[in-house]
Amino acid sequence: MFTPPPSLMGGGGGGTPVPENAPKLPSQLFINNRWIPGAGGATIANINPADESVIGEVACAGAGEVQAALDSARRALGEWRKSAPRERGQLLANISRAVLENGEALAQTEMRETGKPLGRARAAVAATARYFEFYAGAADKIQGATIPCGDGYLDFTLREPLGVTAHILPWNVPLNMLARGVAPALAAGCTAVVKPAEQTPHGALQLAQIFAAEGMPPGVVNIINGGPETGAMLAKSKDIDGLTFTGSVETGRTVMRAAAEHIKPVVLELGGKSPILVFADADPKVVARETCKGIYSNTGQFCDAGSRLLLSARARDAVMEELLQKSRAVTVGMPEEDPQMGPLISAEQHSRVMEYIRKGSEEGATVALGGGRPAHLPKGYFVEPTVFSGVGEDFAIAREEIFGPVLSVLEFEDEEQALRMANDSDYGLAAGVFTRDIDRALRLAKNLDAGTVYVNEYFAGDVAAPFGGMKQSGVGRECGLETLANYTRIKNVIIRVGD
Ligand code: NAD
Repeated sequence: MFTPPPSLMGGGGGGTPVPENAPKLPSQLFINNRWIPGAGGATIANINPADESVIGEVACAGAGEVQAALDSARRALGEWRKSAPRERGQLLANISRAVLENGEALAQTEMRETGKPLGRARAAVAATARYFEFYAGAADKIQGATIPCGDGYLDFTLREPLGVTAHILPWNVPLNMLARGVAPALAAGCTAVVKPAEQTPHGALQLAQIFAAEGMPPGVVNIINGGPETGAMLAKSKDIDGLTFTGSVETGRTVMRAAAEHIKPVVLELGGKSPILVFADADPKVVARETCKGIYSNTGQFCDAGSRLLLSARARDAVMEELLQKSRAVTVGMPEEDPQMGPLISAEQHSRVMEYIRKGSEEGATVALGGGRPAHLPKGYFVEPTVFSGVGEDFAIAREEIFGPVLSVLEFEDEEQALRMANDSDYGLAAGVFTRDIDRALRLAKNLDAGTVYVNEYFAGDVAAPFGGMKQSGVGRECGLETLANYTRIKNVIIRVGD
């Protein structure tokens, strides 16, 4: 996933407290460029995970609002799909600039809603602008092909906008996830209905303010907040032309079934249990730095977090020493103070992570570091950086996605075993390889079942590179030019050319 971190291990740039006179956040639904209340006045509260205070309440969409958003997107589609691609690109470029201009307000919201350290929240805003910038440039480069069908025929393809696209988002990087789907959809000439995660509704509404201010025509993007029920209404609607879902495997399965009812195409970006393979020739300091980045960034709540460290037995002592030292030094604290790690998203996620930590010990792994709540943070959903050694391949902490700062360390004897262990997973989102042997790196890159292979640097990449999962980590690719296929449909035209 492209979420360029300020070097996690390098620390942040000094914190700015949330100003007491911070502007009031938008709280209504955004449909047809108008702000409207939720179903029967229904609202959902959203909580600051660092201090458990209520940030605000947002309107919750019921069936009527979901339909209104879909109708609005359908009406807008007629003109939007016919607009000049260059003009769509210009609007996306303007949005990119406006995101940066409003960067501090967006970063403050991202920080308060997700508990991200301020520096990371600012980086997430920069990445959001980058998505709009990239697809601004792509809008007028979506091309068809001419196909050789023999003398007497001219055959060509048209790449048409898919139509009304639905986007169901997770809470871990909410602004990025919105931009990752909506920017290419708009570039391709689609209109969108977005359902943010119930934990992080405000950032999307602030983006909606930007869209309207930059002249986006009414109905092109509609934002309907709500919980799983609202998402389910969207997923099963016959009035969507495609669905992009980012979230857990379990919900992805449900959403895929719902979309099957009306045979709607889905893009699924789901979870992971990504391995980091470390060979004896790798530099232990680099491995420790990159592994810490891989597992503690965003408090372990990245789908491609490097949560399984597969360590050559010959590298064990040197790497573990560096890793534990680096992990011990990770600062955990209030997001506005810009520590290296903030809290988990919610009480529910906190219990889930603590339960995995309990299970890990119960199954026989050794807590080499952490395993509890940091003593200086009695409130909020904080957990210590945690490292388990002596983890068995069949332990829950080696196989299941924890989505927290919990690293499971396993050992291997040779490359063959390392590859087998890495691929022995229901997931296939990402993998890391640390070695100075180029042949080994290339062999593994070819043989690992992972949508992304990071070699000698974890989380390297850019919006321009395709991202997505194999196996239960998902269907389809986002980012790069690849994702434009998700938002276009191909029509073939064949013409008999007379003599
Ligand atoms: P989740 O599946 O609980 O929720 C995701 C979204 O789906 C939310 O907006 C939620 O309201 C909605 N939803 C829930 N039930 C629904 C239903 N029945 N029908 C329609 N919508 C429904 O996931 P989460 O806890 O928000 O996110 C964490 C998960 O997301 C992790 O597994 C993580 O790996 C994954 N993730 C993946 C990527 C990726 O790019 N692969 C990126 C970020 C997060």
